[in-house]
Amino acid sequence: MDPRALTRLAAPAAAALLALTTACTGSTVQGRPGASGLRDPYFPKAGNGGYEVEHYALDLDYDPAGGRLRGKAVITARAEQGLSSFNLDLSGLRVDSVRVRGAGGDGGAGAYAGARYNRSGNELTVRPAEDLKKGEVFRTEVVYSGRPKPLTDPDGSTEGWITTKDGAVGVGEPVGSMSWFPGNHHPSDKAAYDITLTVPDGYEAVSNGELRSRTPAGGGRTAFAWHSPEPMASYLATAVVGKYKVTTGRTPGGVPLYSAVEPAAAEQGERALARLPEMVDWAAGRFGPYPFGSAGAIVLPSGTLEYALETQTRPVFPGAPGSEELLVHELAHQWFGDSVSPKSWKDMWLNEGFATYAEWLWTEEHGGPTAQEEFRAFLDGDTAVDEQADSDWDAFPPADPPGPQDISGNPVYYRGAMVLHRVRQEVGDAAFFDLLRGWADDHRHGNAATADFTAYAQERTGRDLKKVWDVWLYGEDRPGA
Ligand SMILES: [Zn+2]
Repeated sequence: MDPRALTRLAAPAAAALLALTTACTGSTVQGRPGASGLRDPYFPKAGNGGYEVEHYALDLDYDPAGGRLRGKAVITARAEQGLSSFNLDLSGLRVDSVRVRGAGGDGGAGAYAGARYNRSGNELTVRPAEDLKKGEVFRTEVVYSGRPKPLTDPDGSTEGWITTKDGAVGVGEPVGSMSWFPGNHHPSDKAAYDITLTVPDGYEAVSNGELRSRTPAGGGRTAFAWHSPEPMASYLATAVVGKYKVTTGRTPGGVPLYSAVEPAAAEQGERALARLPEMVDWAAGRFGPYPFGSAGAIVLPSGTLEYALETQTRPVFPGAPGSEELLVHELAHQWFGDSVSPKSWKDMWLNEGFATYAEWLWTEEHGGPTAQEEFRAFLDGDTAVDEQADSDWDAFPPADPPGPQDISGNPVYYRGAMVLHRVRQEVGDAAFFDLLRGWADDHRHGNAATADFTAYAQERTGRDLKKVWDVWLYGEDRPGA
């Protein structure tokens, strides 16, 4: 995400409590209910316990004129415990049916059976006809419909399903994806995705990964089948419907590109995206091979969002990106955030500090301020170098935001980048760039926490960096030079 246009309000989310009752079945397996949250320090009800998702197949039929969505989600998951019931996160919408297909008794696939379900707040509790065994791979099919809605974050920003003048966009950081599909909505449970969007003829439908097919669906509608084989955190899923100008190509290094720009921004947007192929290859040179099968960008009608978001393979921008740095920021997230994802929302600086530092590296190598000049500017509050230099970057330690309203706060971005610059100062350029590449490679397509990074940095560089962590990452006081 890029915070430069965010306004913040304090509005802590109320966590709804859900009482679960143990299902009583005739099965010999004795399951118990899966937890209704993963105890994230800031979003305790996000995600669910007892299973891990392997794959989401989302079939979404959207009517832009009426704002109505008809969806079918088939979620393939592995039970991590015996389950009598389990939860999915879903906000709003009407659930029409839920069926579960277990492994069956003889090791083959069983048949779908209708499941009991109930809803409380954003929790959809599913009770399969038979308890699920630990280790069992099962499929849950949820058929749902309605008008999906935007959600307001604790920091006052808007996410979820947002309508535009002729379509809509689904974005999910941190918990908005539950407003357009049921799932295990926490970054620690990443999965592969197939998202098929069916829209009226003449509309484009863009999502993550690669477009597998674009086929007539009957009734004046077209189905766009998007395939994301690499693991994706659900907050990085997107679905964009509307009138768009699509361009495809390849970077000089060979990464396929697919971008969509809304027509009113076509000229400005294409100018802004002109350097994207070069940027992808530059970032691969700095951070290691591009982690996904394709890249690109989506330029939404201006004013759709208050921020840009690093949706996987294809970031969304609210209007043509206003600077090269903004484009580099969302691109760098493909390594830091999308491929290496946070274990919890407390680890947000691992996304934002790195993406901000990538901006400093880009300007350093392309005729702008060096990272050292950026670092110095923030210490001195010198807005001639960076207009954010006198922001409240020192308000809290980046590894310990005070609450959920602070996970996109300035310290997470700017002091997070300063942490990396302090490491660079300590270990020198060769060891520092080796560390960035090593980190992206070692945790490729996985999850990591702050403690994983600090341990890895010390091991990779062979240096004791405790003072950097104590002062810059965890210290309450404003650090000096
Ligand atoms: Zn960001």
